[in-house]
Amino acid sequence: MTDIRIGHGFDVHAIEEGLPMWLGGVRIESYTGFVAHSDGDVAIHALADALLGALALGDIGKHFPDTSDEWKGADSKIILAKVMDLVREAGYSVSNADITIALQRPKLAPYIQPMRETLAPILGVTPDRVSVKATTTEHLGYVGRGEGCEVWASVLIFK
Ligand code: MG
Repeated sequence: MTDIRIGHGFDVHAIEEGLPMWLGGVRIESYTGFVAHSDGDVAIHALADALLGALALGDIGKHFPDTSDEWKGADSKIILAKVMDLVREAGYSVSNADITIALQRPKLAPYIQPMRETLAPILGVTPDRVSVKATTTEHLGYVGRGEGCEVWASVLIFK
């Protein structure tokens, strides 16, 4: 019988002018970016937390502490690859992932496909198994005021 596990992740980063904006492993053209210890890729952080959640192995902060110099300015794709090592070590493969990004601006439509194509090989799947969706919050709340970005991610893993 197939052993299936589900995982869910959530992350938020504050937005400031003059910082780089990375989402889903892709550099977003913007005059604002995310305040973070790493490169601030809030989408990858939520996805990594979903994978760790599926394995019941704690969270990204436990595995990649923001007090550690090793992860200062780190490319979050490396963090995701390291989490995938844990998935494989536990004998699991990814079935699919679904990511929802809440960001007021810039518009993410041109970046959705590049994100899917960037994340898929790290997860060991084809891009048709990686969903990336983007929404604004209709100018409501801190996301709507452009103060932050929220991401939710769900994954299924199996063996
Ligand atoms: Mg984070």
